[in-house]
Amino acid sequence: MNKRWTINEIKTFVENNSESTLLTTEYTGFSQKLQFRCACGNLFEKNFTKFKNKHQRKCDVCQPPKASR
Ligand SMILES: [Zn+2]
Repeated sequence: MNKRWTINEIKTFVENNSESTLLTTEYTGFSQKLQFRCACGNLFEKNFTKFKNKHQRKCDVCQPPKASR
């Protein structure tokens, strides 16, 4: 299922599923980097696929990326 999300749906998803706030106001596609503000106040960028499917819903300080590189 490749649902096409709108910016409003994403904003709602972010509000309902994380403590972060979506700052981006325009959504052009799943590979776009969206800007978020973490609950701690840090800003971070993440595309929505990662945010949603990989549960990367906080900044790198609150949720350090897995050491996989
Ligand atoms: Zn944070």
